[in-house]
Amino acid sequence: MADHKTDVVVIGAGVAGLAAAADLAAKGVHVLVLEARDRIGGRIDTRRDPDVAIPIELGAEFLHGDAPETTAIVEAAGLTTIEVTGEQWGRVGGRLQQLEGFWDRVGEVMSHINPKHTPDRSFSEFLATHPGGRRLAEARRLARDFVEGFQAADAARISARALAEGAATDESRARRLPAGYDRVPDHLARGLAGRIQLGAVASRVEWRPGRVRVAARTRGPAAEQLTVSARAAIVTVPIGVLQARPPAPGAIAFEPDVPAIRRALSGLTMGAAVRAVCAFRDPFWRGRLRALPRGAALTHASFLHGSGSALPVWWTTYPLHAPILTGWSGGPATTALLTGGISAVERAVPAALARLFGVSPQRVARALSRCWSHDWVHDPFARGAYSYAVVGGAGAFRALARPVERTVFFAGEATLDDGRNGTVDGAIASGQRAAARVVRLAER
Ligand SMILES: Cc1cc2nc3c(=O)[nH]c(=O)nc-3n(C[C@H](O)[C@H](O)[C@H](O)COP(=O)(O)OP(=O)(O)OC[C@H]3O[C@@H](n4cnc5c(N)ncnc54)[C@H](O)[C@@H]3O)c2cc1C
Repeated sequence: MADHKTDVVVIGAGVAGLAAAADLAAKGVHVLVLEARDRIGGRIDTRRDPDVAIPIELGAEFLHGDAPETTAIVEAAGLTTIEVTGEQWGRVGGRLQQLEGFWDRVGEVMSHINPKHTPDRSFSEFLATHPGGRRLAEARRLARDFVEGFQAADAARISARALAEGAATDESRARRLPAGYDRVPDHLARGLAGRIQLGAVASRVEWRPGRVRVAARTRGPAAEQLTVSARAAIVTVPIGVLQARPPAPGAIAFEPDVPAIRRALSGLTMGAAVRAVCAFRDPFWRGRLRALPRGAALTHASFLHGSGSALPVWWTTYPLHAPILTGWSGGPATTALLTGGISAVERAVPAALARLFGVSPQRVARALSRCWSHDWVHDPFARGAYSYAVVGGAGAFRALARPVERTVFFAGEATLDDGRNGTVDGAIASGQRAAARVVRLAER
């Protein structure tokens, strides 16, 4: 049994925890970060394969808009970013067709949500009022696909009010990090040598005003119990982990329990999303396809929106040209898909691409080299992809971020109420905010 003493203990070495620890360490505060996995980065999970020219992202891939938090890291770390440009294509009436003004059409539907509508209602209930009438019928379908796909949410559960209030993420502009997204957590951790304990699963937070004691168990054959005593804790684990009850793996008992946090958690849930990053020996979609209009090609395609398959949305690496396609599924369909395990995702690839491109599954299977994916939903240290507010839960993000007796602070993507929940920049902002609060309260 090892006992550690520090000023502030941080639980979780995703970007929220790392950003909090980095800011505290820069101010001379002693920190210790406990991380359950054997790596930092959390839901940023970059893999590399010698046979694949670009890094393989199994978690976050895109930098959204010009968020100041990620932009500052990109500049400080001297990283290159590549703007995602290119055409949006969709499968319409059995043919592939270029979709003009995709984001404007989704945005027009969203602009009809009245954030003051009382009582709050689900996005499905909002759509059932046919906002925009017949003119927006197709746009409403795209908006539902967007909410279920990219927000990873169940349209029948997500709060329309929270969607309207949280329009801060600029979905229309995105960049990639060709060196790999893991450069962001690596940069945040650069001044934290010796202050991150990997493989340490926190299981209990005992607290009273001004004191915390965190119990954790290291994983692996030499597993040992450790405790960390500090004057404050910053808890950055995903809300799926906070909602899990001991003895579920990763679950954390708070002693005493914090009813305000339990209430906030009941307004939030983790969405389901999964991606399959697939490398091809033959990028057949760049050639002639019968589903394309005469003379058209997918040379400049970035996103391809299909339907009726287990992986309805795909994207290329455009403007880079690599023989790689990424398939995506989000929302309730993903939960259903993952009941068959992660192998069900990879098994679904040939049929999904065959349907999208109008070729045979055998043609896809012959061209395919290998796919990578990760089951975030059943990962005990994530328990979902990212958070969303359920009906009536629009205020829950803010409530979760409220410090508990100046001693226990919550951070992480689900604690930001400006619409940037579910993003890397939002998670970093939440960690920086928690660190600033810890410092401010200590100075009083
Ligand atoms: C498939 C997918 C695609 C995404 N795409 C994008 C994207 O393109 N752009 C974007 O901006 N965002 C994207 N996101 C969201 C983004 O990855 C997250 O919002 C962000 O990384 C969350 O950071 P965090 O620090 O709040 O949480 P996490 O990264 O989850 O960090 C929490 C840490 O806590 C650890 N932990 C859990 N339980 C315990 C315990 N009991 N004891 C100790 N440690 C514990 C975990 O291992 C983890 O390292 C995506 C997420 C997923 C899953």
